[in-house]
Amino acid sequence: SAEDSEAFVTLATTDSYCKGAVVVARSLRRHGTTRSTVVMVTPNISEQSRFALKDVFDEVIPVDVMDSDDHVHLSWLGRPELGITFTKLHCWTLTQYSKCVFLDADTLVLCNVDELFERDELSAAPDPGWPDCFNSGVFVFRPSLHTHGGLLDHALQHGSFDGGDQGLLNSFFSSWPAGDISKRLPFVYNLNASSFYSYLPAFQQFGHNAKIVHFLGAGKPWSQREESRSLTMQQFVCLWWKEYLSDTTSSTAGKQQQVRTS
Ligand code: UDP
Ligand code: MN
Repeated sequence: SAEDSEAFVTLATTDSYCKGAVVVARSLRRHGTTRSTVVMVTPNISEQSRFALKDVFDEVIPVDVMDSDDHVHLSWLGRPELGITFTKLHCWTLTQYSKCVFLDADTLVLCNVDELFERDELSAAPDPGWPDCFNSGVFVFRPSLHTHGGLLDHALQHGSFDGGDQGLLNSFFSSWPAGDISKRLPFVYNLNASSFYSYLPAFQQFGHNAKIVHFLGAGKPWSQREESRSLTMQQFVCLWWKEYLSDTTSSTAGKQQQVRTS
């Protein structure tokens, strides 16, 4: 069935972001996803983190920023700021899957969101800072080497207007704001704290409908820093910790064993 070739995908290039990735996988599994879970990791990740990821993800896929072809490699050397961005773009090379949902490692899934696979590339929710741009923390895409090549070319020619993947993806998928309305995901698929500050009544009215919380910006749940957070965000952070510290065996029951050893 189509479901077998669909996956949730995330990325971790540091041990800290691995903690986030573990929570992404556990929260997906807790809410009974029928799709595969995939994490892309860079070689600098510690053995311990790799082990933790293999325990909760169906697939742990090593990626290397520098394994692109020479043309890209050389150009990349002059654009080190695009490193993480290029690594995230690797998700388009996962052509063993026909459709995927990318989730940032700083997201927490609160219910089953498998209905996202009914959407097509590129579906995403508006960015709260500039709603004519989509936020690239949650998006639906179709792996394709052709698209991947196009994205790399675009990055090398035009860079990224915000220095990261979001600027690049928004200029590449430039029809998003005025295009097919079905590609505009409801905000509850990418809820973040900024709406608490910018539109409190809406947050109070609709916040409980949250499906995916995104801890964007500084002050990730796993960072030790004391943050002044709203009570609601503090509750989401508590939920994050509960998931992080939860017993693996219960949250991975039914998981397919297809972990790739590397
Ligand atoms: N990321 C990573 N290592 C880094 C920075 C980012 O692996 O040092 C990945 C991770 O999946 C993260 C995503 O890239 O969730 C986007 O970065 P981040 O979430 O920090 O950006 P924000 O959502 O705060 O703008
Ligand atoms: Mn993020």
